[in-house]
Amino acid sequence: MLYSLDCEFNGFGGELISLALSGEAGELYLCRPHAELDALDLHPWVEENVLPLLDVNGARPVVLPQEAFGRAIQAFLKNDTAPCVIADWPEDLTHLMQCLILSPGQMVRIPDLTLKLMQVSSWPSDLEGAIQHNALWDARALRRALTLNRGEI
Ligand SMILES: [Mg+2]
Repeated sequence: MLYSLDCEFNGFGGELISLALSGEAGELYLCRPHAELDALDLHPWVEENVLPLLDVNGARPVVLPQEAFGRAIQAFLKNDTAPCVIADWPEDLTHLMQCLILSPGQMVRIPDLTLKLMQVSSWPSDLEGAIQHNALWDARALRRALTLNRGEI
């Protein structure tokens, strides 16, 4: 099954803030708790343009400490024998991979996973209610763009 991926993070190279996967079979939208986000040295642009949009237009995140993201992703993918995750920016894939690592030498058990980095423009999107810089809406917009442009997902 195909899933589009989007992450919001604390500026270029910055810490993960939220992560979303959107697929035909379902969606996962995770966000770190405010206590964790407040402890980051947040980039002003992120503070202004990302933080206010974490819970908008029906995109309600499951709030979890970052260390619990891996288990949540594991649970989300557990019934999929061949998941394929598509992103349009390398850091999204980096953050997803980082979430799967539990400790040195230990990762969550997930099915064989395929990653794809694709050249596609998600915005502007014709999805009703879509809001850019919200990870779930960005993942939905990417999936929509892939459907329109390539019939991929
Ligand atoms: Mg985004």
